[in-house]
Amino acid sequence: MHYVSTRGGIEPVGFAQAVMMGLATDGGLLVPTQIPQIDLATLAQWSRLGFQDLALEVLTLFVGDEIPRDHLRDLIERSYATFAHPEVTPVIDQDGLRILELFHGPTAAFKDVALQLLGNLFEYLLERDGGQLNIVGATSGDTGSAAIYGVRGKDRIQIFILHPKGRVSPIQERQMTTVLDENVHNIAVRGTFDDAQGIVKALFNDLPFKSAHRLGAVNSINWARILAQTVYYFYAWGRVTAGDVSRRLSFSVPTGNFGDVFAGYLAKRMGLPIDRLVIATNRNDILTRFVQTGVYAVGDAVYQTLSPAMDIQIASNFERYLYYLHDGDSATVRALLEQMQRTGRLDVDAAHHARALADFDAVAVTDEQTLAQIRATFETSGYILCPHTAVGVHAARGRSDIVCLATAHPAKFVEAVQEAIGREAPQPPSLRGLMEKESRCSELDATVAAVKGHLEASLSAGSSA
Ligand SMILES: *Cc1c(COP(=O)(O)O)cnc(C)c1O
Repeated sequence: MHYVSTRGGIEPVGFAQAVMMGLATDGGLLVPTQIPQIDLATLAQWSRLGFQDLALEVLTLFVGDEIPRDHLRDLIERSYATFAHPEVTPVIDQDGLRILELFHGPTAAFKDVALQLLGNLFEYLLERDGGQLNIVGATSGDTGSAAIYGVRGKDRIQIFILHPKGRVSPIQERQMTTVLDENVHNIAVRGTFDDAQGIVKALFNDLPFKSAHRLGAVNSINWARILAQTVYYFYAWGRVTAGDVSRRLSFSVPTGNFGDVFAGYLAKRMGLPIDRLVIATNRNDILTRFVQTGVYAVGDAVYQTLSPAMDIQIASNFERYLYYLHDGDSATVRALLEQMQRTGRLDVDAAHHARALADFDAVAVTDEQTLAQIRATFETSGYILCPHTAVGVHAARGRSDIVCLATAHPAKFVEAVQEAIGREAPQPPSLRGLMEKESRCSELDATVAAVKGHLEASLSAGSSA
């Protein structure tokens, strides 16, 4: 399988290179040159597979012969052995409400599904091809801890995660800082999230520094993350339909970066019988407005909501969808992005808007509706939704044959849950005792120079050890 850029500016590369590259060198996103097609007989067979075996089948289609099957199987086994549920991503039925629980990984949020695999893939490829990767990122909450858990203890990888001191939730902070592996470096900067992100951007823009120190990112645009997420759409369909290929299901997906729902779109394009993909956004509704109007336009601000992991103004994976919507026509993608750059909006024409409507519905959900949904679901079934999941469940109301993706454990969002139902959700084992555990974190001024100095010192200490 070969990968090209959505912007058409690179020579095709293989799977391993696509994973290590992350972002294409022309600024576009990597996509496979073709989408593998799954026939109905294969689908029926796949419906009997456990999560790991299914992941092996799906990934093999995109990896080709670049990683021997036994090695890939081993990678997948190790990635999902860290999940607390034997099914990895179980589908549960609460009085007719079907929930695909994606939060049984080590940080209790769905990003673990992708980042556990990505960490092992990085380690494998660095070991095989020789190399070293120093991951640098800024986090306002969930992504940082999932990335840290993805690469903790891995050879040839160091990870530096900046968070704004005192401005992430205590659980999120402790999830990161209690990971004591030597290759994990937490940095609390005395500033805001924007300061932290600005510093990371400056480091990546300093090309000599970036290449001298082999800096890399773990962001939501890595193709391997999309693939890992595609697996659970197949898995959920198999569990719910027991392989009855005449049954089509819809999925309601709380999304901000268009990552999770793009994985569903990929599954649909591969031939999974999906009816509607419901894009569930919070007040940050750029995606919802796009589906409703065909215009993708940046709003005036990023609003803080009860579902913070979706407080995003621009959806980084949307470019991949634009590419497929226009049948792989990179020139059109470039023209649309240029319009976006110039004017803050891009318009797809009526015919393409109609195509989007054939795949997607979209609903923007307010904080009040989110709280009301947590309350209503708790009252009818005793099941506690996290606020992101509640956005998706609200968006799914009135629809039948739909699976709602649960993207985080409710115990991670103490205040919202408390406000909705007057009590806290019981903690899963991964979150218990966090406050008592030993922790390690460096505190730095929010300046590029301070962080650069810290990185250089840590990396040279590591290489001489
Ligand atoms: C990251 C995240 C999302 C949104 O995921 P996308 O990649 O934007 O689709 C939703 N819920 C939770 C809990 C998350 O951490």
